[in-house]
Amino acid sequence: MNDPSQPLICRPRQLACLAGGGLRSLAVAAALALLAALAGTSLAQSAWPTPKAIDALRLEPQGLRVLQGEHLTLITDLPSDPEVDALPRLFDAAVPLWAERFDVPAAKADAWRVQGCLIGDREKFRAAGLLPAGGESFPHGLSKGYELWVMEQDSPYYRRHLLLHEGTHSFMATQLGSCGPGWYMEGMAELLGAHRWDPKSGELAIGVIPPDGRVGQLQDAFREKQALPIAAVMKINNDRILPNRAYAWVGALAHLLDAHPRYQQRFRELTNHVLDPEFNDRFRQAYADDWSDLSTEWRLMIATLQYGHGIAREAIDFQRGKPLAAGVTATIAADRGWQSTGVLVEAGQQYEVQAAGRYTIAVEPDGRPVPCEAGGVTLDYHAGAPLGMLLAAIDPRDAAGQKVSPAAKGGFLRPARLGLASRFRAPYSGTLYLRVNDSPAKLADNSGELRVKISGAP
Ligand SMILES: [Zn+2]
Repeated sequence: MNDPSQPLICRPRQLACLAGGGLRSLAVAAALALLAALAGTSLAQSAWPTPKAIDALRLEPQGLRVLQGEHLTLITDLPSDPEVDALPRLFDAAVPLWAERFDVPAAKADAWRVQGCLIGDREKFRAAGLLPAGGESFPHGLSKGYELWVMEQDSPYYRRHLLLHEGTHSFMATQLGSCGPGWYMEGMAELLGAHRWDPKSGELAIGVIPPDGRVGQLQDAFREKQALPIAAVMKINNDRILPNRAYAWVGALAHLLDAHPRYQQRFRELTNHVLDPEFNDRFRQAYADDWSDLSTEWRLMIATLQYGHGIAREAIDFQRGKPLAAGVTATIAADRGWQSTGVLVEAGQQYEVQAAGRYTIAVEPDGRPVPCEAGGVTLDYHAGAPLGMLLAAIDPRDAAGQKVSPAAKGGFLRPARLGLASRFRAPYSGTLYLRVNDSPAKLADNSGELRVKISGAP
């Protein structure tokens, strides 16, 4: 069963594809996954065959050229172009980042090499015998151990993204022995394929929120009331062709878990269990104690998702409130998302909120800070309200994550506008949270804080 000439018993054998800003995928054959599970957890890395040796001189008359990097040998029929020719350098820059992310020793990662095909005209590769046996018609991308195939994409960004996506699969399959269940496998490839690359300096960052194509998929889903809860994202199964949106879902979940200070360590630790058939149970157990908080932040992220979404700045420290005895003053940072006031407001009661303090809500291109008070500035709007305006939301859950008020609706998804001074009657009981109005992608250039006095009103 562990005959190295039989790579089909090794998982993952996967086909993935990307089109016009989205990915689709085919096939981890269920039978293969079952076989792999039955075979136990030690899938020898050597079980993946070494790629066939290639002869650049023989390929040249067939319209194929070979680009050589430290970690990637890339065969392509695309004409020479600075973007295309830089791909092995991009791949080389990604390998140490993958090694660090997956805790693979540098010496082992240094020796890691894959062979890839970047395909404009599939027929040329078929004629040269370079298409994967049995998977010749993969739609967009394919990773199989130490080999990967990538179809030409609509933009340089998505060409690079798909190469790094398939590269992540290859790295995990050969270095960890598995990519884990479908949602995690594709989520990791989306997370570590999403990048910022400066070809001049060679500087690469991976794990950044990808450009609008992916973000737009989820904004549309939210508008269409098609947002998926985490449990549904975990059911996304890459053993069949997936719609583009499925890739956006698994990628977004991986981004949240990987960048959020409270969830990150647990998520990264799961890498050690990709060979465990009970991986999904482990995942659920790891987040069992704060599943309700995680689900709340997941819904909020999808509802407000932006390119450049500041996940760490948006992270909520859920401090449940106490009933208000006398007035309470809370300090609210301008460069963070929702922050607990520590006040439990009660349904039907009236409250008065007074805010004081000046903060910076943006920085002009010429470096001048834009000052702001709790009323906001009208030079710009976000979500229909003045930029920088003080907003309020009530989290209707108790410490156990159960709703104090079963009828409560909205929460963080439907904030109220407070401004400098206001009175409100709590529509339901829960902890009062405040923030200033700004895009989750634009908190980093804010600074300063405001002091907010909350008191009961007759
Ligand atoms: Zn994939």
